[in-house]
Amino acid sequence: MNLANRSQTIEVQPLGGFNQALSYGVSEKHAGLIQVGSLVSVPLGPRRTLGIVSSLTSSENLPVGKLKYVSAVLREEPVLSSDLLALARWMSDYYASSVEAVLEGMIPASVRDGTNSKTKRMLELSNREPLEASMSALDRSPKQKLLLEFLIKEGKPVAWLETLKKLKMGDNVAKGLIQKGFAKESRDSVKRVAYADDLTDSQEDVAVEVKLTDEQEKAAKEIKQDLSTGTFKTRMLLGITGSGKTEVYFEAMEEALAQGGSVLFLVPEVALAPQTVSRLRHRFRKHGEDVVVWHSHLSAGERLDAWSSITRGEARIVVGARSAVFAPVPRLRLIVVDEEHEPAYKQEDNPRYHGRDVAVYRAMLNQAVCLLGSATPSLETLRNVTLGKYEKSTLSKRIDGRELPLIHLVDMRRESQREKVPPILSQPLIEALRQRYTDREQSILFLNRRGFNTTMLCPDCGHVEQCKDCSIAMTFHRTDGYLRCHLCSYRKPAPRACPSCQSFDIRKKGHGTQRIEDIVSSLLPRKAVVMRIDADMMTKKNLFREVLNDFRRGKIDVLVGTQMIAKGLDFPNVTLVGVVDADLPLRMEDFRASERAFQLLVQVGGRAGRGDRAGEVYIQSYAPHASSIQYSRKADLEGFSEEEMELREEFGYPPFRHLIRHLFRGRSSEKVEFYAQQWRNLLDANPIANVDIKGPAPAPLEKIKGYYRYHLLYLTQSVTPFLSEFQKRRKEFPLDRDIHDILDVDCHQLS
Ligand code: ADP
Ligand code: ZN
Ligand code: ZN
Repeated sequence: MNLANRSQTIEVQPLGGFNQALSYGVSEKHAGLIQVGSLVSVPLGPRRTLGIVSSLTSSENLPVGKLKYVSAVLREEPVLSSDLLALARWMSDYYASSVEAVLEGMIPASVRDGTNSKTKRMLELSNREPLEASMSALDRSPKQKLLLEFLIKEGKPVAWLETLKKLKMGDNVAKGLIQKGFAKESRDSVKRVAYADDLTDSQEDVAVEVKLTDEQEKAAKEIKQDLSTGTFKTRMLLGITGSGKTEVYFEAMEEALAQGGSVLFLVPEVALAPQTVSRLRHRFRKHGEDVVVWHSHLSAGERLDAWSSITRGEARIVVGARSAVFAPVPRLRLIVVDEEHEPAYKQEDNPRYHGRDVAVYRAMLNQAVCLLGSATPSLETLRNVTLGKYEKSTLSKRIDGRELPLIHLVDMRRESQREKVPPILSQPLIEALRQRYTDREQSILFLNRRGFNTTMLCPDCGHVEQCKDCSIAMTFHRTDGYLRCHLCSYRKPAPRACPSCQSFDIRKKGHGTQRIEDIVSSLLPRKAVVMRIDADMMTKKNLFREVLNDFRRGKIDVLVGTQMIAKGLDFPNVTLVGVVDADLPLRMEDFRASERAFQLLVQVGGRAGRGDRAGEVYIQSYAPHASSIQYSRKADLEGFSEEEMELREEFGYPPFRHLIRHLFRGRSSEKVEFYAQQWRNLLDANPIANVDIKGPAPAPLEKIKGYYRYHLLYLTQSVTPFLSEFQKRRKEFPLDRDIHDILDVDCHQLS
């Protein structure tokens, strides 16, 4: 008998170390179960592996004896929609990543493992009719009758265990009812309600119904128009801080839902968008819509539940960080990318995708609309608007005509001349802080530095304590007096005196959030409440929430934090924002440094004066003439982007060309450099058209965790043609086993 003749041949993408779809036969018993996107188990060499059905036909013509068969179909419903499969293929090509790695990011581990959703034993009425007439059959089983009446009253499946316990009955009562055909057993997935997340509790300020301003009305109309065409469109929503972009998103979402579609709402970091999430819930709960929050802190079980209710089409709104762009919603109509300029949308691990760009591509695959919102759009997006690829809607006024805050630049060079030691807080900023406290208004102090870490820099000789394995400064943690490397977490006790000049002043330097917190506390009266918020708190969800809530309720006078507090938080009583070290991003070796500084300063400025009172911003800078700082004073996006675009064009940097970074790493510095140089020689001997090559050069972080790093940079107009030429050559270039290379397409962080 020849089974192969009677069965189909399909293609399966294995999830275990193989980057190409393979052909498999489908036996009769599986034939009806298999769809594109089904999770299957297939033989691969001597073992078995999981795979995703990627096509129901196969071009390959294998001789019958060679054909292997799908061993099992693991879930009834497909685990991926066909648009996600297409997206995975594109991502694999564009970001030079394996399909396997991309798929792993799309499908929750608990689904990939083949473990099923935890189910709960339920009891419900059978379809037997008419019930009342036959109920007399239960006259001699009063308990069964009682249970039946309970089921009729409930009118829906009830939890087996809990119900029997409540009615003080044994299992046999339920089984008796089932036997007599009145009831049946069923299963329900256990919803771990945590994913209906608790980042947000009831908030006072969400309930207000607003009447759209004319500008909002116009923007909403433009987007609804896009949606009504049923074709792919990308639109930038340029709205200054406080102009009410969120309401416009909501209008667009309502339209998409009304069309029977689903919506993805992407934010840079969910923990930082509690207000957005609660506003979403509030707005759409009244329509009976379930909002799924998708974020990295979900447990495996929570993720699985969220994922299941999305695939079943029960939840049509998904809000989350970049990976939510893969949420398997059916009939996707709209993707909102809020704060589209945020670097957090770029994933720094394989696959190194950009959430915004993937969102645009996925919208294209679905003939859907992608809406990119920001007060300070990325130059990439601005360029796409100029080129006519994206449409544009604008909100140019703050709600209620509130003024943008008054911005003071403090020249720190002059401030330091006045004092012996360069001050951390300048006199004008200190005065302003004191005044706010007296007036019972709130202030935010903003630092660029991550965490409450501080560099150990000797003020006398300039010595910096560095990690022995990474070429970066270690950071000093006051709480335990240790120095830590934030790349490899190597730690050692901090020296009491400078190892180089023996000065005892070495411990006093640095200004992390904790140091600022101390300084501010000492400047204000005892009763003043000063708190800080930093990266460490993000892991303690409740603490983070409590501090934010206390601040909102006015229980905290001054909040000190890193860039995370620059994003999307809305505190009406804040009238003063101080930027302690505006220069830091300008010092990074990164062509995007200016852009980032501009964005940060404008966003930070947007935090002040959101209530009825006007706000003030103090920017402390050692380079007050820098254009990013000058333009940010007036939130002059046009002025800034015009100047910055000119520079980028001159050097052919993004957004005029794509930047691809090729990193070599290994334990031996000489070897890494040698291979990087050999590779460059190969490219010179066998050039690729339309690409500018820079390097090899040591990466800005030359050594991380004991690995040396060299990189080459490629600047090219179009990515995929370059990559295909690149891969051809790369295959002919064997690397030693202890040398690795990594490609980062549209690289953001040149670390
Ligand atoms: P953005 O995201 O553009 O910075 P938001 O969407 O957060 O601005 O809106 C800022 C504030 O204005 C919010 O408190 C919001 O509730 C309020 N708001 C938005 N639109 C209106 C409106 N049409 N009328 C009154 N208040 C509004
Ligand atoms: Zn280190
Ligand atoms: Zn010293």
